[in-house]
Amino acid sequence: MVKRALITGISGQDGSYLSELLLDKGYEVAGFVRRNATLDLGNANDIKEEVKIYYGDLHSPETIALALLDFKPDEIYNLAALSSPFASFRDKVGTIVVTGIGALQVFERAKQIVPDTRIYQASTSEMFGAPKQMPQNEDTPLAPANPYAAAKELAHRMAVMARHDKNQPQFISCGILFNHESPRRGLNFVTRKISAAVACIKNGKKFDVPLNELGEPIVKDGKIKLGDLNAKRDWGYAPDYVEAMWMMLQHEKADDFVVATGELHTVGEFAKEAFAVVGLNWEDYVETDPSFVPPVQTGPLCGDASKVKKILGWEPKTKFKDLVKIMVHADLAKFS
Ligand code: NAP
Repeated sequence: MVKRALITGISGQDGSYLSELLLDKGYEVAGFVRRNATLDLGNANDIKEEVKIYYGDLHSPETIALALLDFKPDEIYNLAALSSPFASFRDKVGTIVVTGIGALQVFERAKQIVPDTRIYQASTSEMFGAPKQMPQNEDTPLAPANPYAAAKELAHRMAVMARHDKNQPQFISCGILFNHESPRRGLNFVTRKISAAVACIKNGKKFDVPLNELGEPIVKDGKIKLGDLNAKRDWGYAPDYVEAMWMMLQHEKADDFVVATGELHTVGEFAKEAFAVVGLNWEDYVETDPSFVPPVQTGPLCGDASKVKKILGWEPKTKFKDLVKIMVHADLAKFS
């Protein structure tokens, strides 16, 4: 029997990689995307012929219900979210409504329409805030330090509650994923901002320079502006991480799993490595600007992924230096 998977947020970084993985495994894949004027599918444009698209919004329970009634998925991957912690400070209500309550809408509509469907919820290491425990695992207390993380905590707690509901338990697994990046990462995230800037500087690009999270050109007067260079994160490669999502839904029992590399690097190290890929010294091009530092800081975040390794056999394949190279080389070709 061919399995059917519905992915909310298919146009995003993870949604597009996950679609490719599931199509390779022989799944029928459907994607739930926001309607926009150009009907652009973002990162999923290249596979639009191979997937079924439902236009809708996590704001709208009706559009979620119609997609579930029509497609009747065996698996739902709830990846849709306003996913930038930094931007969430400027859109607190929107973030809670989409990222928190939107996820709950998915769980509730699924319970009514396709109660046996297995659900993956995209939880995040940001829920740990500025933790005292290092590295963090599934038992580390949650203490969100931005509206995005608070919304994700709401969704996470509702998922765990639905899993333990005595009357009608739902199969909802939560992947507590640490940062994962790729050439498909949004330009409002620091890693992609750096790889795009390196490419624009190296290629001497003067026009159509991409915009940063504040709507300004990423490179201005030959420099890139970054926030806290000492912020520490655990960065993996997105295609490795979507495999863990799929593995969670194949396991006999729904559970929570931390997915991470267990390696810690600073933003400064990422910038240094990225400029080094093209033979440049990062200190000649990077400036710091407090406008890019969030009002409440998170981290250091470093994951202990021993549970997902032990139970599901998942391990990251791509090392930090290779991730940086992949991103810079892709952007050198894109921003030429
Ligand atoms: P992403 O690239 O920002 O993708 C987010 C997706 O959500 C996009 O397809 C976006 O559509 C969609 N979306 C936003 N608002 C929506 C709404 N109201 N209704 C329907 N769709 C909506 O994020 P990602 O990096 O792929 O991450 C996937 C998920 O994992 C997210 O939930 C994220 O919070 C979570 N996560 C990510 C990381 C990471 O490091 N990447 C780590 C932990 C957890 P548009 O194309 O229309 O904007």
